[in-house]
Amino acid sequence: MSDPASTVRLCHLYPGEMNIYADRGNIAVLARRLEWRGMRLEVTEAGLGACISPGDHDLYYLGGGQDRDQALVAEDMARTKGPALVSAVEDGAAMLAVCGGYQLAGRGYVGAGGAAMPGIGLLDAETVAGDTRLIGDVLIAATLDGATHEVVGFENHAGRTLLGPGATPLGTVIAGHGNDGESGAEGVVRLRAIGTYLHGPLLPKNPWVADTLLRWALAHRTGGEPTLAPLDDSLEDAARQVAAGRARGERSERLIGRRA
Ligand code: GLN
Repeated sequence: MSDPASTVRLCHLYPGEMNIYADRGNIAVLARRLEWRGMRLEVTEAGLGACISPGDHDLYYLGGGQDRDQALVAEDMARTKGPALVSAVEDGAAMLAVCGGYQLAGRGYVGAGGAAMPGIGLLDAETVAGDTRLIGDVLIAATLDGATHEVVGFENHAGRTLLGPGATPLGTVIAGHGNDGESGAEGVVRLRAIGTYLHGPLLPKNPWVADTLLRWALAHRTGGEPTLAPLDDSLEDAARQVAAGRARGERSERLIGRRA
């Protein structure tokens, strides 16, 4: 039996279908940041047809997918996992849902061909595909647990996501498109669940987001308020600066030169 204070139990949802744009990289970052602190990530995969029990995991991960894969997953997830995921998050588990996963964690997604895909209703967000894709580097000011940091990523989605009136966005767009290309909002946060269009993957360049998820997951595991030992994030920070500059339209050679 693993020591609760030093093991995070992660459930990777639909790793076969929802894994475009290197979403697995996010899980590798979570595992390494725990290892560097003498802790461990225990990964369970839950694909099509698999059922989950709300108390079994501290952190859920759902990546992005193309409309075709999403349609398969949407129906399956609503049927086999939706209520368990909602109660897990309402009981304090953490979740990261990226792009297509974000859309399906919301109320639903109408894809580019007009197909209506059910969401699990965990997040108060509704998505409809537009005529164009929203693509490019993106920079946001994100707020989690009352702290605001710049977060960078790459986005590529047809979906335009509108949040319900009471929903809290993950952040405000500094450069890029975000939820719908118009509102200035990006992503959504509910309890310890984050939905976002940022990938590339998201966590390698944004260790603050990774550590927030790990802290939340450990809080769920232990019932306490864990603190994580600080790590040397100078490489991650440099990578984020370059990506942020690119999103703002600066030339990366100049940014790298300035840091040297
Ligand atoms: N198929 C969805 C869209 O185009 C999500 C894409 C993704 O996950 N990258 O909006």
